[in-house]
Amino acid sequence: MEQTLVLIKPSGIIRCLAGDIISRFQHKGLIIAGLKMMQLDESVLREHYAHLVDRPFFPSLLDSMMRTPVIAMCIKGVDAVQVVRDMTGATNGRKAAPGTIRGDYSMSGQENIIHASDSVENGLIEIRRFFKPEEIFDYQDNTFRYLYAPDEK
Ligand code: UDP
Ligand code: MG
Repeated sequence: MEQTLVLIKPSGIIRCLAGDIISRFQHKGLIIAGLKMMQLDESVLREHYAHLVDRPFFPSLLDSMMRTPVIAMCIKGVDAVQVVRDMTGATNGRKAAPGTIRGDYSMSGQENIIHASDSVENGLIEIRRFFKPEEIFDYQDNTFRYLYAPDEK
């Protein structure tokens, strides 16, 4: 079973979308294995967005991501990385499909409500970046038989 990192960004916190976003993932049948509010700083953002540090919009992305605390979630499920990326939608909210989180709630390529890991490998790296091992819980393993066929788990 995969794990993926979601951050409800300051744009999602300020617009009071946290409850709706958490509900969407829960109603889908994904498991929230870790959840916390935290204030990000420049050093963790330089690591998290290392692929973007040289882009002209990076200073504005830093400001945007530090404007309020974020809510970090470790989300677990079969193929969770791709399922959550699909629910997130394209990076630019104006281009994201309706029905996705960004497609429903964002008009921006930067203020796009959530972050979601883009590969299984990055999911594991990003969960380690934002969570201590003891902050990830396995409490819902007994619900999997209601969510999946025996050969899917
Ligand atoms: N971003 C931006 N301008 C751009 C591209 C990206 O401000 O032209 C921001 C945006 O908030 C995006 C984040 O940088 O979510 C990370 O970019 P990435 O290309 O990794 O997109 P994502 O994986 O979030 O869809
Ligand atoms: Mg990305």
